[in-house]
Amino acid sequence: MTGVTLSKAVKRYGDVQVIHGIDLVVEDGEFCVFVGPSGCGKSTLLRMIAGLEETSGGKIHIGKRDVTTMDPSERGVAMVFQTYALYPHMTVEENMGFGLRMNGVPKAEIKAKVRAASDILKLDDYLTRKPKALSGGQRQRVAIGRAIVRGPEVFLFDEPLSNLDAELRVEMRVEIARLHKEIGATMIYVTHDQVEAMTLADKIVVLRAGRIEQVGAPLELYRDPDNRFVAGFIGSPAMNFFTGTVAEGGIDVPALGRTVAVTAELPTKGAKVTLGVRPEHLEVAAGQGALKAELTEALGGVSYLHLVSRTGERIIVEERGDERARAGDVVNVSFEPRRAMVFDAKTEARIR
Ligand code: ADP
Ligand code: MG
Repeated sequence: MTGVTLSKAVKRYGDVQVIHGIDLVVEDGEFCVFVGPSGCGKSTLLRMIAGLEETSGGKIHIGKRDVTTMDPSERGVAMVFQTYALYPHMTVEENMGFGLRMNGVPKAEIKAKVRAASDILKLDDYLTRKPKALSGGQRQRVAIGRAIVRGPEVFLFDEPLSNLDAELRVEMRVEIARLHKEIGATMIYVTHDQVEAMTLADKIVVLRAGRIEQVGAPLELYRDPDNRFVAGFIGSPAMNFFTGTVAEGGIDVPALGRTVAVTAELPTKGAKVTLGVRPEHLEVAAGQGALKAELTEALGGVSYLHLVSRTGERIIVEERGDERARAGDVVNVSFEPRRAMVFDAKTEARIR
């Protein structure tokens, strides 16, 4: 059993606390993604698991072992970073086997392990090349290969695709998903990109300012966020938010110029709330309205219509098929009540 368990994990740099007591279980064989905005503590938390940062409080277990104070080399983890840090004068094969060579592993065994890894990563044709003769994606595959040959119980990835161009990122994302299927090891993957998180994860951990906002399967977080932060972070384009006040029969939304019906159990009349509706759940209603169409981004299969209300709130509507509005039109939007999410305006907690 080689899951990872964090119990009240804390990190302080001097007087500054950046990780505020994280409790988390990553199951054996799970693909877990830490996601959140820059500076929220993703890398710090990952490096604490790797042993590259000291843990200031709480415990970290890998499987049944308490690794909190262990050296990185004793933990059975391998880490892949954003920068590949390959040795330029070594071939792909030598780069992948370097760690094993340093540990005195016999040559034949190194060769077999490197071959097995290069087979998984489709690097067989490149084993004798030097890094400068490789593409960015191939270099990152070598860096991943270096982790694989060590046979770790847990793989740790810190934004491994951030240096790649968009097309390669998608390709490597698929490769990493395939790698996880093939070797079945526990993987913890850090990214600020919610699309990467959604497509790779069994379990997503949304972090904000050193605290967990929510943990769940990708579609759980999309369909049933606990708070406004998670609702706004997961999903692309992001959820639209409108300020509102609880009124008779629904929520009075100034931006829409009307009271809208929702299925959530609303607090007492007059309470300040935030209404959230995803772009894909809004529909442009023909005729006059309260929203002005500013521009349309037509991507082919889907278009994003940008609207602005008289109150200055910006709204994006995702449209498939025929466009209903053009720049300059003044329109309305509608949505099914069950699609509207309601949040407490102050605490930002979801009201269900
Ligand atoms: P992320 O990876 O989510 O972008 P980090 O884990 O790198 O965030 O950083 C989390 C917070 O810890 C940030 O506010 C950062 O400024 C702070 N931090 C990171 N390393 C140090 C350090 N060595 N000393 C002081 N503060 C640090
Ligand atoms: Mg980071």
